[in-house]
This record gives sequence, C-alpha cells and structure tokens, in this order.
Amino acid sequence: LREKIRELELSFTQKYPPVKFLSEKDRKRILITGGAGFVGSHLTDKLMMDGHEVTVVDNFFTGRKRNVEHWIGHENFELINHDVVEPLYIEVDQIYHLASPASPPNYMYNPIKTLKTNTIGTLNMLGLAKRVGARLLLASTSEVYGDPEVHPQNEEYWGHVNPIGPRACYDEGKRVAETMCYAYMKQEGVEVRVARIFNTFGSRMHMNDGRVVSNFILQALQGEPLVVSFSPSDLVNGLVSLMNSNISSPVNLGNPEEHTILEFAQLIKSLVGNRSHIQFLPEAQDDPQRRRPDIRKAKMLLGWEPVVPLEEGLNKTIQYFSRELEHQANNQYI
Ligand code: NAD
Ligand code: UDP
Repeated sequence: LREKIRELELSFTQKYPPVKFLSEKDRKRILITGGAGFVGSHLTDKLMMDGHEVTVVDNFFTGRKRNVEHWIGHENFELINHDVVEPLYIEVDQIYHLASPASPPNYMYNPIKTLKTNTIGTLNMLGLAKRVGARLLLASTSEVYGDPEVHPQNEEYWGHVNPIGPRACYDEGKRVAETMCYAYMKQEGVEVRVARIFNTFGSRMHMNDGRVVSNFILQALQGEPLVVSFSPSDLVNGLVSLMNSNISSPVNLGNPEEHTILEFAQLIKSLVGNRSHIQFLPEAQDDPQRRRPDIRKAKMLLGWEPVVPLEEGLNKTIQYFSRELEHQANNQYI
C-alpha cells in the first residue's frame, strides 16, 4: 500500500511543472485577466512556478484552455470563465489586467466589444482593485503612440492617434484605460502600474494573429508567398518587475532592436528554410510606419532589458507553429 501511495504522490507531483514553496507571508493571491491568452499564459506559468496563487479570468475570445491546461487541478490555480465587462467580486492582492483582444484582425472583428472590454472591463477591474486594496497592472500598448511623429518613442510622447480610424477601438480604448488608471490612483488611491508593451511573439501566440511574425512564419511553413518586431519570457519578467516596483507612471517594455519588415521576412524565410518568395502589397490604413521603443526608463528604474536573441525567439515560435500545424492536420481526420 505504501508503494501505491508513493506512486500516486509521484504521479501527482510530476503532473505539474515544478512549483517553488512560498511561505504564507510571501505568497500572493494574483488575478490575471486574459490569462488564457498568449502573454497571460506565460505570465501564469511564471507566477505559478514562483509559488503564488493564481486566478485566471478569461472569456476565451482569443484565449484557449489549452494554454493553461497544465495547471488545471493544481491547488494554487483557478480558472474562471468570465467576461470582464461584467463586475467580478473576488479577493486578491494583485491584478494583472491583460484581458483585451490584441491583434488587428481580432480587435477589428468587433470594435464595440473591444471598446467595452478596454473601458468597462478596465473600470470593473479598477473597482475591484479599489474594493480589495489590490495593486493593478494594466497591459497597455505601443499603439497609444499611434503612427508616431517622434522616433524612437519614449514615455513622455503623447502620441498621434486617429480617433475615428479602423484601429481606434483598440488605440483609444487603451488610452482611456490608462486615463482610468490614473483617475483611480488620484481620486481613490488605487496603486497602478502601466506597461506599454511593444510587439511580442513566441509560443502560444495565435497562428492567425494577423501580425507580421506569425504571418511570415505561417506563410513560409506552408510554402506560400510572404506578404510584406521580443520574446514572451522577456516581457513576463518585465511585467513582474514593474508590478513589484514603485513606479506608477507608464513604462515602455519592448525590444529596441529595429528591423525592416523586409529584413524580418528574409530572416524568417532563411530560418524556415524554404523557397517562399516575398510579395509586396499596399499597406493597411493608419498602419504605423515605424516604431521603436525607447527603453531607457525600464533599464534605469527596473534594471530590465530584453535578453532573448531574435533568432532564438523566432526559432521557438517556428517550432511551436510547426507542432500546431501538425496537430491541426492530425485532428482533421478524427
Ligand atoms: P491574446 O489575445 O492572446 O490574449 C488576450 C486574452 O484576453 C485572451 O485570452 C482573451 O480570450 C481574453 N479576453 C479578451 N476579451 C476579454 C473579456 N472581455 N473578458 C475576459 N477575457 C477577455 O493577446 P496577448 O498578445 O496575450 O495580449 C495580452 C495583453 O497584452 C492585451 O491587453 C494586449 O492589448 C497587450 N499587448 C500585447 C502585445 C503583443 O505583442 N502581444 C503588444 C501590446 C500590448
Ligand atoms: N466592481 C467589481 N468588483 C468589485 C468592485 C467593483 O467588478 O469588487 C465594479 C463595479 O460593478 C463598478 C465598477 O467596478 O461598476 C467601478 O467600481 P467603483 O467602486 O469604483 O464605482 P461605483 O460602484 O461606486 O460606481
């Protein structure tokens, strides 16, 4: 019987990735909205492995249960199917507020829902933070700079956004989400942190994300023409150090290494190793022409900078996409 119990214990401990033991006073109850998405699921992994209690709230619009399934059943983990546009009453110490579609095809699919999520959703999470005295980190975006007239962009720049263009639901939604954070900070004393995230790619990003890296990889892997940006682990470390810092003003998190889209296409083509040719099409309306984060603030105040080399990040993403394509192909015949 003892052997059987040991076996059961072993199978239980091996079922989950290794988790650090944290004493009660260091262990936090952390809410991640949008935790079943690309960035959120990597953040979930880090905070779970650091030994915290993590609650993921997601409406599965673009997120997937599969991204966090390896934690389901763990005593420190909870997954709630919930839309942040509706109020949420739970008890937590920190909130990483990531819930929002992030790529143009996803946020343009239903602009009104994107606006509701970023405005009412953020208001609800700030209301929750106020009620329970939690600190809230908003996943904002480089899109608040719009199509920038200054290069590179530092946090002092106010941006150049078309308020009625096709990208406005997202750009203006995030801008008002930032405004709400500072209104709750000033009026209600809520502790806020604002990360302005620049394009990130890696495993668990959507294959049909519609942004440059995923498009190129997918087209190269499928041998289609290539129609003419940092790793999630870098980003997750930046988010956690910003959350636990005393910096309440916005901080850029991104990779200052700049490449043209053509360079990206060529690099991906050579990493995938096929003969896809590169094709040029007209640009989309209001597309930012050039973007590069000034990350001096994050470097100086958080000691943060991206460390994953571009090629390594791309190779990991390519491997993930190949496995996903295989998975899809195998499931077609079931
Ligand atoms: P993602 O689409 O993979 O994740 C977003 C998650 O939010 C999904 O799981 C989705 O189902 C969930 N969600 C959407 N609307 C919701 C709602 N109303 N209620 C509950 N859950 C909801 O995108 P991502 O790339 O992981 O982005 C995460 C956050 O980071 C977003 O706020 C995004 O704006 C921001 N961001 C990402 C990038 C990037 O390059 N990935 C760049 C800048 C900013
Ligand atoms: N809210 C929430 N969870 C909470 C507390 C508030 O979802 O634990 C929502 C609440 O429904 C409200 C919003 O957050 O719509 C703003 O709350 P706040 O207390 O700031 O405003 P009030 O309720 O006073 O209008």
